[in-house]
Amino acid sequence: MLLSQWLPLSEIPAQGHIFSFQDDSRWTQLWEKFAIDCQMNKSLTTSLEVLPQPGGVYFRGSLQGQVLMSCSRCLEPGHVDINHTIDVYESFESDLDDPPGYRPLKYEHGQWWFSLWQLTWEHFVLALPDKPLCSRDCKGICPSCGENINSGLCACLEETGDPRLAVFRNLKINL
Ligand SMILES: [Zn+2]
Ligand SMILES: [Zn+2]
Repeated sequence: MLLSQWLPLSEIPAQGHIFSFQDDSRWTQLWEKFAIDCQMNKSLTTSLEVLPQPGGVYFRGSLQGQVLMSCSRCLEPGHVDINHTIDVYESFESDLDDPPGYRPLKYEHGQWWFSLWQLTWEHFVLALPDKPLCSRDCKGICPSCGENINSGLCACLEETGDPRLAVFRNLKINL
């Protein structure tokens, strides 16, 4: 399983431990597996402090980098900055309520284990925009010919000119 790599919590000292990791090929595999349209632009770096508590574990840190996603208006690749703060407390207690495989903690062979990839992946998905854009003022594609009109008007838009005037032109034709 791509998301596994469970580490025993017993190996973390009481004062906590900070993990930093970066693995482009693993991200690429995950995007393929979950059919997420992403390409790495600036390597995603995770930095996470694991702090054991009597009733659970604190995970604190950040996920940073930059990916390329297809713009939802023009379909060209757009830069998406990932700059996400992670600050969660996972309790041992709620383990039974959640389906297995959706938590960064699990109890097995008489001890607790944690998965930093599980946690990181969850936060990565949360950090993704619903509608990625190549730029905030992307003009998208022409609805009639499908041409990208960010670089200039396509032939059909040039012909009709200002769309606000089109209604008057139509009036003339109808007369
Ligand atoms: Zn665009
Ligand atoms: Zn057009």
